[in-house]
Formats: sequence, structure tokens, C-alpha cells
Amino acid sequence: MEKLRIDGIIRKITKVAEQLQIIPILRFNIMSKTRLKVLFLAAEAEPFVKIGGLGDIAGSLPQALRALTFEDRQKYSDIDARLVIPFHGAIQRQAYPLRNEAVFDIPTSEGSIQAEVLSTIVNGVPVYLICGEPISRDAPVYSGDKLADGNKFTFFSLAALQMAKVLKWRPDIIHANDWHTAIALYALKIYADAFYNKTSSVLSLHNLPFLGEGTSKILAKYGIPPLEIPEMPEWARHMPLPLGLWSTDSIVAVSPTYAKEILTPEFGSGLNNFLKTRQDAISGILNGINIDRWNPARDPALEANFNKDTLEIRQDNKTALLREFNFSPDPAIPLLAMVTRFDNQKGVDLLPEALHLLSHLPWRLIILGTGLPDLERTIQQLESVYPSRFRAAIRFDDQLSRRIYAGADMLLIPSRYEPCGLTQMIAMRYGCIPVARATGGLVDTIFDNIPDKPNTGFLFNQANASQMVDAIQRAMQAFSEKDNWRTIQRNGMSQDFSWERSAKQYADLYFSLCDRKRVKLITP
Ligand code: ADP
Repeated sequence: MEKLRIDGIIRKITKVAEQLQIIPILRFNIMSKTRLKVLFLAAEAEPFVKIGGLGDIAGSLPQALRALTFEDRQKYSDIDARLVIPFHGAIQRQAYPLRNEAVFDIPTSEGSIQAEVLSTIVNGVPVYLICGEPISRDAPVYSGDKLADGNKFTFFSLAALQMAKVLKWRPDIIHANDWHTAIALYALKIYADAFYNKTSSVLSLHNLPFLGEGTSKILAKYGIPPLEIPEMPEWARHMPLPLGLWSTDSIVAVSPTYAKEILTPEFGSGLNNFLKTRQDAISGILNGINIDRWNPARDPALEANFNKDTLEIRQDNKTALLREFNFSPDPAIPLLAMVTRFDNQKGVDLLPEALHLLSHLPWRLIILGTGLPDLERTIQQLESVYPSRFRAAIRFDDQLSRRIYAGADMLLIPSRYEPCGLTQMIAMRYGCIPVARATGGLVDTIFDNIPDKPNTGFLFNQANASQMVDAIQRAMQAFSEKDNWRTIQRNGMSQDFSWERSAKQYADLYFSLCDRKRVKLITP
């Protein structure tokens, strides 16, 4: 298919070129175009295994990168993005046709460990799955045991680098994600060899506070030395993420605001001063959502499908959701919702006080989530405080989350920090208006009285109940003005949250890194 398409394009260009008599130059240009090779390393990826947002991203970005073409670029025709992940036990062996690609050893101070590489193709993306004794088929993706996780992801990272050599597939870019694969970039830098001397590196930061602590013994076992430089705090010199942050050519925070926040003591996880030394390498690129999977016009989980021009149909979803949760049907009462992990990051603990402050107003609230047992208990207890207007569904339930996005009026997101956040983008796509703390990606995706931008939601500055309540009350006021509310809903539904947009920005970054590398190699 791809060859046919390219042949077609070349035929068209050749025809024009014949008319203009520029065939020799053109032939040269076409012949000299290559594919930019990107190896994307991640701890998890959809559809194989998804635990959190990283799984969404690793499942979507390589596919979106492969869909791009670059007619305006002289050197590159498109991107050959490939994904490599550990072959976790949660990945079903029978679900994918697998090919044996390679077997090799990874040396350690306790003897070498065999790595085996299998491959498959999913959604057009070549995917490599790495097996080996540290990647136990019996263990969960993240066991919480620092040594076991450190061993698994260090082995995986080194095996991913070795794999490309064994397969003689030389990447232009190694793109690592979070602490689990950051050590690959450190190894790339300190063991730079002829195979990798033209390769540039990118490290995406989805969650800075997870540094990979407690793994120093593991790094020593794999012969990876600590980093003895004054800019790096001493406590961080043995940790995978700090080592990756030092070695990578480019650091990408998953939103422009988070890229600035990580330079401050509040969000920098103790690395803010070190990160300032790398400020020139830091940028922010928003994640996208899979707009085919999250599409209110086609989502089979909904009572009634709708789009921004048929918003009146959306009401059927609210009615069905109210019925499902045993609420009386009353469309004039705003239906608030939360879909979230129960974690201190997400500000779920602000809810009891916020609801108390709001108790004199009419509202209903449905919360879907799981997480810290204490928070689960606190939230569950609210059902007895507000029996006629509060419901908690303490579980992970993708289908219910869809019904909530399509039926609720507002989604509350009181996060203390939010590198990018997906729920606000999904909510807007489904006509549910976010009321969120102004932090990280929430600032970059939700417009609340920003000059020249359409209003798409409501933001508050501090993570406290009284500011949250102020924002909810502003939202309630807008909700009571039907036309105003419709406009906000339509504005949100018209936003482009596609992966295509993010992929184009990553592609620009890759190209600029490759250009820089070329200049560096020519003028050492
Ligand atoms: P996180 O920090 O948890 O990755 P994001 O906003 O980036 O937060 O992504 C959360 C994703 O997980 C969204 O797709 C959201 O719909 C989904 N999600 C969170 N909790 C639940 C739940 N209890 N049931 C179903 N989906 C959930």
C-alpha cells in the first residue's frame, strides 16, 4: 500500500518535472530522501498493556508519527517509528502473531543474562517485545519492589539498545520515557560507539517525581557508574531519571506549562536547580488523545451519540446516567463528576470541604475512581452525608467513564500537579466542561477568559477548597445561561486534541536534533 502511494506521488511529481524540464535535479532529490528512524522505548503501551497515561501515549504516538509525511523536507520522506516494550506477563502471548528476532546476552557483574527479542506489528507499528529473566512473566508491570523494578527496567533499557545493534537497525532518534527507560540514554552517552554516534536522544517526562530511587545496586550490577558532577545533587547521582536528564539531547515535558513548572522548587522534585542547567534542552509538547477511540459521535458505550451540532441529543445521556445512579431526573440541576485515580496528586481530598461549602446550592455529583484506601473510605462516606445527591463508584471502569463524560455537565479536576492530563481533553471532546486547578497541562488545554481564545472551562489557582468552590460557582452560573453554556461546550468540542498535532511537534524536534548532530559531526 505504502509503496503504491509513494509511487503515485513520484509519478505526479515526475510529470510536472518533465514539463518544467527539471528531471535530473528532482530524481536526485527523491533518491536522496530517507526515512527518519525512531526507536520509542516505554514501560507499557496500549493495546498490549496499559496501567496509566504512559500506556496511552506509547500506544498512540508511534502510530501518529508513522502517519506523517514530509513533502517539504529535502532529506526525509517520513518517519519509521518503532516501539520496544518489555514482554510483561500481562501481555497475552496468543493475542499477537510473534516473530523471533534475536537472542543475545547482557553482561552483569553476576554473569550474563540472556535477552530474547520477539516482534509483531500493531496498527502498522513494528513492535519489539523483550524477554529475559528480570522481566518475569509472573510479576505485575510495576511491582512496587524497587530492586525488582530497577532490575527489570535496567535490563530492558540496555537490551533495547543492544537489540538495534544486533538487528542492524540504526535509529536516528532514541526516544525514552520516564525513569524506566531513562537509563538507556545514559548508557548511550557514556558508552557512545560507532553504531550510535549519529543517534540523538529524547526523554519525555510524564511524571518527574518518580526518579527510580533505590536502584543504585542494580546499576552497579550492570556496570553503570554514578554521575560525579557538581550540578547534580549527590542523592540523585545513582538514579535512572536524573542520569537520563543529564545525558539526553532533549527533555520534553508533556505540556509547555509543566516544562516551566519543573524549574521551580514546588514541582522540581529537588532537581529544579539541576534542570535549570539544562534549560536550553527543555521544551513542552502536549499529549493528545486518540480521537477515534474517544468520539461521542460513534462511542458505542453511550445511550445516544452526538456531535457539536447535535448537542441537544446529549441530554439523553445525562438522563440515562441519572437513572443509572438512582437520581431523580431534573435537567436543571447541574451534574458534577470526577474520573480519577485516588491519589494526593489529584486533590480528591479537597472534595469533602468543597461539597460542604457548596451544600446550600443544588447539585449532584458522581465520582468514579480507585486508589489510596484512606481516600476511598473518605469518599465513600460522603454518600451518607449527601444521600440524595452524591454517588461514588469505587472501581476502574472504562465504559462507565465514557457514560460520565457524555452525561455529566462538569468534570472536577483539582490536581495539585498535572504534567499533561487526559481527562480534561476527553471531557471537552464529550461536551463536559472542566473545572480545574490551573497547573501543568490543564493551563495549556483549558481556556478561561484568555484573550483571543474561546472559553472552554473554568480554572482556579490554588489547590484549596474555597478556590475550587469559587470556580464551581462560576461554572454553575454559566450553566444556568443556556446559550452561554452551549457556546462553551461547542468551543471545547472544536479543540484539536489529536495525536497528529503532537506528532508534528515531535517530528520538528527530531529533525532539529538530527540537523544539529550533522553540523556537530561535520565540525567536531
Ligand atoms: P493519570 O495521572 O492518572 O495518568 P490522566 O488524566 O493523564 O491521569 O489519565 C487518566 C486516564 O485514566 C483517563 O483516560 C481516564 O478516563 C482514565 N481513568 C482514570 N480513573 C479511571 C477509572 N476509575 N475508571 C475508568 N477510567 C479511569
